Amino acid sequence: RSGFVAIVGRPNVGKSTFMNRMIGEKIAIMSSKAQTTRNKIQGIYTDDNAQIVFVDTPGIHKPHNELDEYMDQAALSTFNEVDAILFMISGVDKKGPGDQYIMDQLKNVKKPVYLVVNKIDAIHPDDLLPMIEQYRHELDFKAVYPISALEGNNVPEMLKELELTL
Ligand code: GDP
Ligand code: MG
Repeated sequence: RSGFVAIVGRPNVGKSTFMNRMIGEKIAIMSSKAQTTRNKIQGIYTDDNAQIVFVDTPGIHKPHNELDEYMDQAALSTFNEVDAILFMISGVDKKGPGDQYIMDQLKNVKKPVYLVVNKIDAIHPDDLLPMIEQYRHELDFKAVYPISALEGNNVPEMLKELELTL
């Protein structure tokens, strides 16, 4: 099995932390290359059964004027290329306009979307379900994964499930 998975989320939710974990080291060379080559590959996960290539979703931003009203072409082309989309939010922060904007864009995307609630190492367990509900009542996620990108909680389990869908 193999496939491409896009990660999208507002700044600071932990996308880079997650992708760095995939290869076990920082990919400084690729990051600096990205601007010139438009190479969106940020992390690769490989095990005996599967390879998952994680790609960044550049160019998704809040509209500043009418011309920006629709999702940026770069984000759209990323979503068209991939097999699945991980929408990452921070479990320690309230849903904000940045999260809402991305979720609204995802409502028009015809690929499976997974909700990843990151930073569960830093939240009270009682706060998790109400947080998830704020998102789930608006968008029909294929699955919801609470994880800690920093400490690795639930990351192997999520990868196992993801690879089965590819
Ligand atoms: P990005 O902007 O989405 O790429 O977010 P980063 O990966 O740069 O992370 C933003 C901040 O959140 C950094 O200070 C990270 O150390 C922190 N962070 C990321 N993942 C976790 C997590 O699982 N738990 C906690 N407590 N902090 C995290
Ligand atoms: Mg980042």
